[in-house]
Amino acid sequence: MRTAAKGPFQPTPRTILHLDLDAFYASVEQLDRPELRGKPVLVGGRNGRGVVCACSYEARSYGVRSAMPVSQALRLCPAAILLPVRMARYQELSRHVFDIFSHYTDLIEPLSVDEAFLDVTGSRRLFGDGRCIAEQIRAAVRSETGLAVSAGVAANKFLAKLASEQAKPDGLFVVPEDPDDFLLGLPLQRLWGVGPVLLRQLNRQGLTTVADLRRLARPTLERLYGATGGKLYDLARGWDNRPVERGHAVKSVGCEDTFERDLVDRDDLRHVLLDLSDRVAARLRHKGLVGRTLTIKVRYADFSTVTRSTTSAEAVDHGPCLFRGALELLHKTEAGRRPVRLLGITVSQLSHVGLEPLDLFNAQGSHRQAALDAAMDHLRRRFGRSGLCPATLLGRSESDPE
Ligand SMILES: [Mg+2]
Repeated sequence: MRTAAKGPFQPTPRTILHLDLDAFYASVEQLDRPELRGKPVLVGGRNGRGVVCACSYEARSYGVRSAMPVSQALRLCPAAILLPVRMARYQELSRHVFDIFSHYTDLIEPLSVDEAFLDVTGSRRLFGDGRCIAEQIRAAVRSETGLAVSAGVAANKFLAKLASEQAKPDGLFVVPEDPDDFLLGLPLQRLWGVGPVLLRQLNRQGLTTVADLRRLARPTLERLYGATGGKLYDLARGWDNRPVERGHAVKSVGCEDTFERDLVDRDDLRHVLLDLSDRVAARLRHKGLVGRTLTIKVRYADFSTVTRSTTSAEAVDHGPCLFRGALELLHKTEAGRRPVRLLGITVSQLSHVGLEPLDLFNAQGSHRQAALDAAMDHLRRRFGRSGLCPATLLGRSESDPE
């Protein structure tokens, strides 16, 4: 049901900014070492998985992309300069940039080390309209840190994020009051929540652009895609009334999957659990949270549902840790003996790591893992979840997740 608050005619139009630093890690390297400016720069693991975590725009012109194996990137661009991840330095600049944001509003929702939503509705009297505020922030970030931050300005988070993608690199895009000119031509993969699986389903229905989606009624979309269908209906109209949240209100972070066919095979269940752990961990890090209580939910084919929980002394946001805990909990259920139609993982007892997660990680002696996790999150945001997942999911091998 459409409501006034949801549609474009809400009583108090909000002004939301989405700010996203361009090619952040690579830009920092070029900032700190002027001799690298204008050159193709890769930031990535020489150790571990050996993937590109970030690449400068110069490297991108050779077809290099994040998530690509470093070896492949170097084949495409042999002149590229490969540098290790220096997370502490990126964090330092990130704090400076967020400090600039905080001059304009205290309603800031950090999405990651280089990206945030700002609700500046209450700041317009003081600093001017959304475009004006975004221009001031971009100029301040440029002059105080030397970094380029792209900005999207719109009446809600969904459109603001689309706008900043449109603005890149080093740009500003303001979504007009009637967003249709901007929105209708966009491919569906640009919409929030449209991953590769849903995209294939939509494409099979003959839908490729937002304009295609607009032709379907809400009941039709809900019949085809359930609750997601209702969300698609709203997004196709540019509607999104989610508030900008400072983040501490989150009580739990979880993911669950319902299967097309009930699962009995333990290996299948294990792979689903690994995928869920990885997704929940990424969402925790995305929100800057760590959690101490892990809960799994198992729904059997007859719809009876059980949960199992465990609480640890140490808060975690790391996929393989969650996976190990979840697997132990799964062994305390009848999964594998009875067919399972749904599996879910939730992490609660959350605490905020804010913008200084490195101290915590250093204390745990897993600096490298933190850098790797941050890099993987970055790649996931760029490519969707299918862009990067643990090797056991890709190869369905029997090896341990770490
Ligand atoms: Mg960025």
